[in-house]
Amino acid sequence: MTLLRSQSSRLTLRLSRDLTRSLKRGHPWVFVDALRDLPPAPPGTPALLLDNTRGRPIAAGFYDPESSVTFRACRVDEPLRLNDDWAATRFEQAIALRSRLFDEHTTGYRLFNGEGDGLPGLVCDRYADVAVLKLDGPAASGFWDIDGIAAWLVENAGVESVVERRKQRGREGREGRWLIGTRAPLIEFREHGVKFTADVINGQKTGFFLDQRDNRQAIRRMSRDSRVLNVFSYTGGFSVLAGIGGAKHVTSVDSAEPAIAAADAHWLLNGLPPDAHAGIAVDAFEFLDEARLNRRKWDVVIIDPPAFAPSEATVARAVTAYRKLAFNGAAICERGGLLALASCSSHIDSQTFREACEEGISEARRRATLLAMHSQPPDHPTPLAMPEFRYLKFALLRCE
Ligand code: SAH
Repeated sequence: MTLLRSQSSRLTLRLSRDLTRSLKRGHPWVFVDALRDLPPAPPGTPALLLDNTRGRPIAAGFYDPESSVTFRACRVDEPLRLNDDWAATRFEQAIALRSRLFDEHTTGYRLFNGEGDGLPGLVCDRYADVAVLKLDGPAASGFWDIDGIAAWLVENAGVESVVERRKQRGREGREGRWLIGTRAPLIEFREHGVKFTADVINGQKTGFFLDQRDNRQAIRRMSRDSRVLNVFSYTGGFSVLAGIGGAKHVTSVDSAEPAIAAADAHWLLNGLPPDAHAGIAVDAFEFLDEARLNRRKWDVVIIDPPAFAPSEATVARAVTAYRKLAFNGAAICERGGLLALASCSSHIDSQTFREACEEGISEARRRATLLAMHSQPPDHPTPLAMPEFRYLKFALLRCE
């Protein structure tokens, strides 16, 4: 079993400017304009990075001549060897962190979070005894040996089946394939004792939005005796936690019919009263406009849309969309009610998002108090030197 497709770095790359400090501080990316030349080599070729002055080696990682992130550092310590022992040590460290974070009541979590675990481009989510691997593009696929990693996980991490998910392009081509231990795709797992299922082959992301776990707990704590609206609900994560927290009634809205069917199923799976949940498969923007025009109101409104800004170029349009959602969210929130607004766009920083929320809420002639600004949970770690990797924003507001 091998974890890396190649055990040595024969390629050397030379920096054209001084990035030593940034790399040593833990920012693992080198962009194309910081390299002196771009030798021809396939994406994912292991490479040794030399500094711009005396040509001393400062990092070992892998190369992608086709991407603007042209070099991704795996290690900056001595010795700069990239081999299976290095990879296995990083895997063990990642697993050790999760054993600190979770007990038997939480069996769905992220096991490897790419750069945040010192494993550039490699993501692995775990649902009970199933691991779902995701490699971030052709360079990661060229560098990591996905079949070997799957075998390692079975041997060392107590999983029985492993799935590969390809990076999503649009809505197409996101089905997974079993690498080991083929079985039915719906996997049951627990989150703080609450039961959920993930469709690891056809579901969005790797089957569930594990990154909202702590924010779901916040909703659980604040939903007692409330009427709750969960917009962009997917399979009802927030809805079920609101129900468990004592909500009187929860409405889940998502345009995907299978997601709404799963939200209904998750509600029942946890023994909640069937008539206290309504799943509605419609367009969320239309639903919100109509609810506002009909002066409908909820005590708790959660709005967690898909990423609107997949690239720098789409930021302006995304800000407009967040503003519009905050506008509608505030309009349909009772006075003194709770409004939760989320963004998972990595190109929108926390400040920009907060401002978009503020704009939208004030357009609705409402005012809000910020109760908390949350991000992603500790099984989604990021390098301290890479704030841009903290993609999740979750603003908890009280709407006056
Ligand atoms: N809140 C969810 C994750 C939401 S992901 C959770 O915690 O699990 C975004 C969701 O928005 C997806 O389920 C997707 O199906 C849905 N979606 C995307 N565009 C939509 C639209 N125009 N109207 C309604 N739902 C939409």
